Amino acid sequence: MAIQDNMPSSKEEMLSLQKERFLWTVNHVFNNSPFYRRKFDEIGLKPGDISGLDDIVKLPVTTKEELRDNYPFGLMAVPERDVVRIHASSGTTGKKTVAYYTQKDLDDWANMMARCWHYAGVTPEDRVQITVGYGLWTAGAGFQLGIERLGAMAVPVGPAGNDLQMELMIDLQTTAICCTSSYALLLAEEVTRKGLGDKIKLKVGVIGSERWSDKMRQRVEELLGIETFDIIGMTETYGPGTGIDCKEHSGIHYWSDHLIFEILDPDGNPCPPGEQGELVITTLSKEAMPLIRYKTRDITREIPGECPCGSPMLRIDRILGRTDDMFKFRGVIIFPSQIDHLITQTEELGSEYQIRLNRQDGRDSMVLRLEAREGFKGDKQEVEKKFLNTLKTMIGVSPKVEVLDYEGLPRTERKTKRVYDERDL
Ligand code: ZN
Repeated sequence: MAIQDNMPSSKEEMLSLQKERFLWTVNHVFNNSPFYRRKFDEIGLKPGDISGLDDIVKLPVTTKEELRDNYPFGLMAVPERDVVRIHASSGTTGKKTVAYYTQKDLDDWANMMARCWHYAGVTPEDRVQITVGYGLWTAGAGFQLGIERLGAMAVPVGPAGNDLQMELMIDLQTTAICCTSSYALLLAEEVTRKGLGDKIKLKVGVIGSERWSDKMRQRVEELLGIETFDIIGMTETYGPGTGIDCKEHSGIHYWSDHLIFEILDPDGNPCPPGEQGELVITTLSKEAMPLIRYKTRDITREIPGECPCGSPMLRIDRILGRTDDMFKFRGVIIFPSQIDHLITQTEELGSEYQIRLNRQDGRDSMVLRLEAREGFKGDKQEVEKKFLNTLKTMIGVSPKVEVLDYEGLPRTERKTKRVYDERDL
């Protein structure tokens, strides 16, 4: 890679760098962030009480509510003159979350994002079409930083319509693309419908910002003839680019020299490797907006063991859901990822689904809408019966199951909402 990036090459090097940066961060927030100074003082914690990575459990957690309550600049840990840029997340409820960056923060982000492109096999020879949003949102700006840092050609289209995306894909012969998974599917189906498959030169898709099933991924890869990579990130921790899967596709490597990922159970205790819990992130290099044990509300698990690719970067699974998406139906806790998984294993079904929860006569009701796969000619009622049986056996619930025709559910360019809980309305 033609970039200045001191990436640790062994596990030992990684651990010592993590420790050094962890202790720096603890001192930095204590001395320079009034927000964290207050949190440390509340529990009587001093930087001297923290001597190594194991002491992370002594540190207080940070919640999304706290970020919102301290809107817009309450988490700033450097003098404002050192801040060169801000971004903000859309925020589904209430105030936006604002993130601030020093020049070094932007450089670190560019390096992390460039590593992501490198892991996806993109080189300075590639032309990369960016279909995600620009502006306050971190996505477009983040992808572009990394493409330029790597030395590839950025084609910053943003969320334009399908026609412009396809026109540029053909005219400029772009070789890589970044988009959300819902848009990847929409675009793949449109390219196929118009018979443009052999006019495009795409080989790599970097897909981010929401979870998707294996089935949806296979379909996008098949229709566009590309290899896809799952990228993760959020506004609070730079933006996209904090981790990506490698060519082995056996989990997402995260840049553990810049970030510590913990997986915690609902009581705040560490989950054993392999078990699902909430992803909690501590930044190690961030100057303007360091975060200590930030509760992301994303559900995933640590992947034990080493990746065959030899990277010293640790791995987590894909984002398997959100703590907010997790719902309780007649006493059973359900992650939408469990339903994803069962759909993937049912050959008569497409990848899309929608869950609607309601309360009728004091009793919870659930409707699960599914799509038949493209070209399905069989009896949809049979598929409904079969899938209901699978749900009963595997998850222990019996919702009303409806199988619609292929493309019977909405597709969007933004994140697709799948769970509609209307029980408290
Ligand atoms: Zn790997």
